[in-house]
Amino acid sequence: MKLIILGIQGSGKGTQGKLIAEKFDLKHISTGDLLRKETSSNSELGKEISSYIHAGNLVPDELINQLLQIHLPKENYLLDGYPRNLEQAKLLEKIASPNKVIYLELSEQEVFSRLEQRAECKSCKISYGLNNLPKAPGICNSCHKPLEKRKDDTHESIKKRIDLFNQETFPLLNFYKSRVIKINGEQSVEEVFHEIVNKLD
Ligand code: AMP
Repeated sequence: MKLIILGIQGSGKGTQGKLIAEKFDLKHISTGDLLRKETSSNSELGKEISSYIHAGNLVPDELINQLLQIHLPKENYLLDGYPRNLEQAKLLEKIASPNKVIYLELSEQEVFSRLEQRAECKSCKISYGLNNLPKAPGICNSCHKPLEKRKDDTHESIKKRIDLFNQETFPLLNFYKSRVIKINGEQSVEEVFHEIVNKLD
């Protein structure tokens, strides 16, 4: 099975991606995570990538496409954060065309409240927010380390990313047409997961 999970920022792609990949035994590839890993190496490339991410801009296609081709298997993947535009979607068609595209629908008002509340555990890669509050404020339920806010979850960067999503990524729904499975992303984590599993089956 080859799956893409698409949705506006804060719609729960990372959280659901992880759950779906576990359930169906797929390799979970998050291009945002791959890029953030590169930035933590402090290399020249990492610094360049950081400047795009912090400003809420997309990283250039040549760079992300190279990274994708290193990590993407030919089969059994769940891709989160890619494609972000038509050029990327066309490349993916050539290398390993997806069977289904899961689209998490969420209103823009909900995006702001979710992202401004979002905090994550860097070690466990668990994201917490209004729908998934940690048991102790600011502390990861699993490893008990302090949670951190993502550097790009500022009001300005969120607004920029919403505009980019609407202009560049939303039109992909028309590109994938009959492969798209629409999911109501405003439900709880468990309900969203249940709806995805039902519709995939
Ligand atoms: P995400 O974790 O998916 O929200 O991605 C965080 C940031 O990484 C985005 O705002 C972009 O700057 C960059 N990024 C992630 N995936 C891509 C992609 N497919 N193309 C270009 N930039 C990307």
